[in-house]
Amino acid sequence: MTMKRKVAILGATGAVGQRFIQLLQDHPWFQIEVLAASERSAGKKYQDACPWLMETELPKEIAEMPVVNADVESVEQAGAAVDLVFSSLPGDLAGSVEAQFGALYPVFSKASAHRMDKDVPLLIPEINPEHIEMVKMQQKLRGWKGFITTDPNCSTIQLAITLKPLMQFGLKQVMASTMQALSGAGYPGVPSLEIIDNVIPFISGEEEKMETEALKILGKYNGYTVQNAEFQLSASCNRVNVCDGHLESVFIKLEQDPSMEEIEEVFTKFQGAPQRLKLPSAPVNPIVVRHEKNRPQPRFDRDAGNGMSVVVGRIRKDPIMTFKYMCLGHNTLRGAAGGGILSAELYVSKGLA
Ligand code: NAP
Repeated sequence: MTMKRKVAILGATGAVGQRFIQLLQDHPWFQIEVLAASERSAGKKYQDACPWLMETELPKEIAEMPVVNADVESVEQAGAAVDLVFSSLPGDLAGSVEAQFGALYPVFSKASAHRMDKDVPLLIPEINPEHIEMVKMQQKLRGWKGFITTDPNCSTIQLAITLKPLMQFGLKQVMASTMQALSGAGYPGVPSLEIIDNVIPFISGEEEKMETEALKILGKYNGYTVQNAEFQLSASCNRVNVCDGHLESVFIKLEQDPSMEEIEEVFTKFQGAPQRLKLPSAPVNPIVVRHEKNRPQPRFDRDAGNGMSVVVGRIRKDPIMTFKYMCLGHNTLRGAAGGGILSAELYVSKGLA
């Protein structure tokens, strides 16, 4: 890769936008050119537009950059021509804004608006890299120079990564109950008086996303669109008093009856295109299995593989289903900005962005 690609971040001041900024510092292929957010932030220096919530220092050059409105005209006026766009806009806004950008640029979206569009990939690079071919059809159908590609919802990503290696045993039914971190609700998110000393057994729209997205991700691309996978999935979602890292309790019904050792082996050995291609953000192991009886835990395990590995533990037989396990993923790293950057790396490596 000779020249770094210049990128714009839409929603740069939010929980996911800040992760994008953090992860794109010193990225070998991408360089931040434009930061965009709402009109509340536009016109301010980045450091005055939002409280920086990452563990690492806000880079000086980013602190001084101006924030612009998240529209094509403002972004084009703000910097040298951008090559691609990362979007972490709110779902209700992303639909139309991302379409404006998609007509001109490759758009890597963290928002839900276009995930289920028939000509839009819903990508996890380890699982369905062949789905990226869909953007060629999208460009033809929509007459676009650019395209939109999406990543799944954060609780779906970690679950789907663990489901992929189980498909070989005949996946029939999946039940998942989540314990989701506060940063998943963005900033400022859930009011402290609602979540301290508490668990909230409802996250708007989350169960519906989990129950539909995994079927598309694990479905087959037939050269035109994706035929959904055929297993059944039921999700129950809860918000818990944890900063980062979604923990999920997962119950699986398989056609076959593999031993717990065989299941552990397919988890541990699982690798995909990012590992083969040695993409810069790819973790060595997409799934890490822990053996302690009380792991994974958000505080100790969310940063595994720089926050890009899914940590699985407590693999055990179940009296009703075939087996059960716990899985944990970092929702703003693998589940959001890290996943978005890994997707972009896949497109670049395939010459599509
Ligand atoms: P957030 O913290 O609320 O940030 C939202 C961002 O969008 C901010 O930069 C905000 O700018 C900007 N924005 C809001 N209204 C806007 C408008 N009218 N015009 C232009 N920009 C506007 O949310 P988040 O958690 O980062 O989530 C961003 C997206 O990623 C959402 O679609 C979410 O569903 C998705 N996602 C989040 C996670 C996660 O773990 N948090 C994981 C996966 C996917 P201002 O600061 O100027 O208001």
